Amino acid sequence: MTQRAMPNKTTCPYCGVGCGISAKIDSPTRFSVTGDESHPANYGRLCSKGSTLAHTLTHEGRLLHPQIHGIRASWDQATNAVAERFTQIIADHGPDSVAFYVSGQLLTEDYYIANKFMKGFIGSANIDTNSRLCMSSAVAAYKRAFGEDSVPGNYEDLELADLMVLTGSNTAWCHPVLFQRIKAAREKSGMKVVVIDPRHTATCEIADLHLPIKPGTDVKLFNGLLSYLAEKNGLNQDYIAAHCDDFELALSSAQQDAPTIDQVAHDCELTPQAVANFYQWFLETERTVTCFSQGSNQSSQGTDKGNAIINCHLATGRVGLPGASPFSLTGQPNAMGGREVGGLANQLAAHMDFEPADIQAIKAFWHSDRVAQKPGLKAVELFEAIEAGKVKAVWIMGTNPVVSLPNANQVKRALTKAEFVVVSDCIAKTDTTVFAHVLLPAVGWGEKDGTVTNSERCISRQRGLLEAPEQARQDWRILRDVAHKMGLAEHFPYQSAADIFREHAALSGLNSATNKQFDISDLATISDYDYDQLAPIQWPVRAGNGTPRLYGDGQFSTASKRAKFNAVSNKGVANQVSETWPLSLNTGRIRDQWHTMTRTALAPQLNAHKPEAYIEINPSTAQQLYIANGDLVKAETAWGTMIAKAEYSEAIRPLDIFIPMHWNDQWSRGGRVGALVNPAVDPISGQPESKHTPCRINPWQPRWSALVYSKRNLPLPDYEYGVKVRGDLFYRYEIADGGIMPTASELAAAFGLNEPATAALKYEDVKTQNYRYAWLHQQNNEPTTVEHCLYIQPQTESPRANIDRNWLATAFQATTLNSIELKALLSGRSPAGVEDCGRTICACFGVGEKTIRKAIKDHNLKSATEVGQHLKAGTNCGSCISEIKNLF
Ligand code: SF4
Repeated sequence: MTQRAMPNKTTCPYCGVGCGISAKIDSPTRFSVTGDESHPANYGRLCSKGSTLAHTLTHEGRLLHPQIHGIRASWDQATNAVAERFTQIIADHGPDSVAFYVSGQLLTEDYYIANKFMKGFIGSANIDTNSRLCMSSAVAAYKRAFGEDSVPGNYEDLELADLMVLTGSNTAWCHPVLFQRIKAAREKSGMKVVVIDPRHTATCEIADLHLPIKPGTDVKLFNGLLSYLAEKNGLNQDYIAAHCDDFELALSSAQQDAPTIDQVAHDCELTPQAVANFYQWFLETERTVTCFSQGSNQSSQGTDKGNAIINCHLATGRVGLPGASPFSLTGQPNAMGGREVGGLANQLAAHMDFEPADIQAIKAFWHSDRVAQKPGLKAVELFEAIEAGKVKAVWIMGTNPVVSLPNANQVKRALTKAEFVVVSDCIAKTDTTVFAHVLLPAVGWGEKDGTVTNSERCISRQRGLLEAPEQARQDWRILRDVAHKMGLAEHFPYQSAADIFREHAALSGLNSATNKQFDISDLATISDYDYDQLAPIQWPVRAGNGTPRLYGDGQFSTASKRAKFNAVSNKGVANQVSETWPLSLNTGRIRDQWHTMTRTALAPQLNAHKPEAYIEINPSTAQQLYIANGDLVKAETAWGTMIAKAEYSEAIRPLDIFIPMHWNDQWSRGGRVGALVNPAVDPISGQPESKHTPCRINPWQPRWSALVYSKRNLPLPDYEYGVKVRGDLFYRYEIADGGIMPTASELAAAFGLNEPATAALKYEDVKTQNYRYAWLHQQNNEPTTVEHCLYIQPQTESPRANIDRNWLATAFQATTLNSIELKALLSGRSPAGVEDCGRTICACFGVGEKTIRKAIKDHNLKSATEVGQHLKAGTNCGSCISEIKNLF
């Protein structure tokens, strides 16, 4: 791997904040990262995930060569195989018998060419993206209200606001740098913050008011706000008359749905006083920004939720003004870039729709008479069509639907049944790649080259700072080569990402004849050099300049230039809780992991905060079910089951539970929450209702459990419960099962370890079936270190409870172990006098709970700020500050 001579600025590949990164090349294979101080998204800040990106620059687990049916192939063979099977299936069954399922992790150039290939030349709109799961409801809401998928504001508005409403967004964990910006602004200006979320999340650290709303009642809350604004003379009647349609219909619907504060409070399970406070603050505060995210979008009524919010902003004229806008926080790094090129099955390209004039314009631009005439299948229906045999071939790019889609076991069935599955990925083994007939190695972050667009419409370069390893290729190049082999060379002549960008920019110029805002045609003639140097810029780009805000003049993207109110009323969730399924399952992200962990699980710091999947549960509910904190629990829904550790939390409402979305079969057994999530979708956006599934949980009592530590990355055996955690210089494995306890030899063999008889240290108690082994590295005069440890015993005396994992981690990092420490390996307890640091609170600086508690006590610290001054904890990304505060 050799470094390339390019600018050393790039963009974080994780969340939709889109932070700029400065890279310092340390060696031909590595670079270190810091926040780019000049990037308008972050001005130098990074969160724990962004800060640890360099740790993920490894070839471990990479897919480095094409494979056909698991056998290494040349690129020529692999692209031939894909082209031939797609061509044959299209010839036999028509263009709608094939599909692409792509990703918000793709760069805009990759996305553009994938969309052009499918919609422009295969002639089907069966290309959808994992962005469907993230923000498609917000897209639909913006289109209904403004006539285009356009976020009116920018990040500066989040600092200029006097009232910040964060609804359905755990901003502190999911958009941490924005959270830090809001927090800093609040400290300066006294901005009020309202958090609307069923859970009391880390974001509530800055909340002046938290509304722990009943899941599925957001439309009611915002309809109540619209009614209240009308009642209190809080409407901007001039603005409504001059710039909007259908206000009376929307108001009438809101008044019927949510006539009084008392009614809203009752239906949303809030106190009338809290609702009244929120409404009064909104009424009184001109500079109000409402940020909404997956908590609103991932709903069977996500589009209506977005429109209920937008209605209130239109009613007060607070759209596209400094510090005043409805603001969708995008989940993924390039979800918006994907939307720009038509990555969703119900869009065409450049924000165009399947309208005759748009189809005609695209046909002329692409010189194709095969342009798709109608929307394609959205994500959930696409995989249903694959299982039903209607879609016979699918090419999945840079995403892991076996983990992330709802009803994820259905996705497994679909991929098992599909005639032909192609997967392009940078990781060799994921839950999805195991179903591939053809595997195509794509480059990863640090190697990918192109552009992304973040939540505030800001286009930034993601630069390839390292050469692609082995045979990995840019996604656009893989797509281009297959297109060539399908006889489309003249339509896909690109030699670089810049070539594609120029065409994408030129295509957006078709919008200049309409009221649509997405237009970057100013960049259509950008040189290769200027593309390499391209600085962040917000679309639309006019006269060489970006556009910080849209619609501030009341001129919208519709044909009439008028915005549209949408009459909405609360429908609640698609599947109700019942006697059989009494709990509401909520899913979401955690602070230090990203999506299906293919990258973040490689950074030891990011695994320390929440090493295992868990079920967050209110203690009152848990105790009724005889579940103790830390117990293993079985969660079941009508769609699937999983096992995870119970984690008591007063932050969650009784009868709700929360499970993180990240764990999968590569890092756990039975930890895939997607298998439990109902496939109910929003009828307009097609976005799944991932925030609510009726569920039940019960204690799960394994017959035995085991714990294994190793310096090596061992296979995770197939027991009922299992989790693998990558630590710093070790891997940790937690195992439990309801079957007959294996012998120590059988368990060692399942991990690929030598016979326990070969271990240097042993403790074997046949009577209690308690077995412990440690394999050491003892060569010549080298210091003694530990290679592996294995502990197994019946559940009556679980190693889950009595082994000190934090101390064992330090034993695996030690360059030498003395005789006392060696003995302690078998007990699994730290030697007398050695204090462990406890579970990690601050991932950025690796500071543990016990260290913080001790410092608070020993030094009489009074605040999280003082903890930061003393231990640095919380002073980088700040995402852990709310947890530090909880230790006082
Ligand atoms: Fe990356 Fe964190 Fe910035 Fe999101 S907030 S883009 S994850 S550094």
